[in-house]
Amino acid sequence: MTGLVVTNVGKKLGGSPVLSGINLEIASGELVVCVGPSGSGKSTLLRIIAGLEIPDTGAIWMGGRDVTKRSPEKRNVAMVFQSYALYPHLSVEENMAFPLRAKGIPSAERKQMIAETASMLGLRELLKRKPAALSGGQRQRVAMGRCLVRNPCLFLMDEPLSNLDAFLRMQVRMEIKSLQRRLGTTMVYVTHDQSEAMTIADRIAVMETGQIIQLASPQDLYRSPVNRFVAGFIGTPA
Ligand code: ADP
Ligand code: MG
Repeated sequence: MTGLVVTNVGKKLGGSPVLSGINLEIASGELVVCVGPSGSGKSTLLRIIAGLEIPDTGAIWMGGRDVTKRSPEKRNVAMVFQSYALYPHLSVEENMAFPLRAKGIPSAERKQMIAETASMLGLRELLKRKPAALSGGQRQRVAMGRCLVRNPCLFLMDEPLSNLDAFLRMQVRMEIKSLQRRLGTTMVYVTHDQSEAMTIADRIAVMETGQIIQLASPQDLYRSPVNRFVAGFIGTPA
């Protein structure tokens, strides 16, 4: 079954084209990384997939259904932003309970779902702590936990590691990859960091000025970039 299909998506913002002719097909359980310079349209594409923006042209399909006009709540999509905000006055457990409460899931079931997600992310010992008593990496894990606990079909991440230092970034990106493998989650992951893209992606979509100029596995991108821009961006030796 196909996870996500994006067909011919175009979008103008403030009168200028931000995305044009975006086509993307992501298999269920696949991790696709969108990489490209600042302003190339990565966040806008993710927001359109999440339903936070409506495209001017084209369509978004999930699990074989056209969801282009569906509200974000009805898409079963979870999104982690660069500036993930945890509720500072709530414990880790209460932060994770938040989206489940919103869905009206009863307390006993909530506890069970939170316990499972917390042990998966190594957060079991931290459930009673407030965000201020956590490290940056732990906070990031809680933000992921809060998304994962809802068991989304599709997981979207927009530069989730950019607030972490270099060492933590390496560690957390490997955790994200292994979690994604283990759960078989379909994921679109945005970054402007090519080494991050090369390490975690099943396939990479290289974006420039609102278009996907190459979509390929890390190996294929490295071996046969379509042009100088891709070669330069991926760091292929000249
Ligand atoms: P990226 O995430 O790759 O840095 P964005 O999707 O955030 O790129 O932005 C792509 C382009 O769209 C940029 O040129 C940006 O200035 C423009 N843009 C984004 N949001 C808006 C908006 N609400 N109104 C006008 N222009 C916007
Ligand atoms: Mg962005």
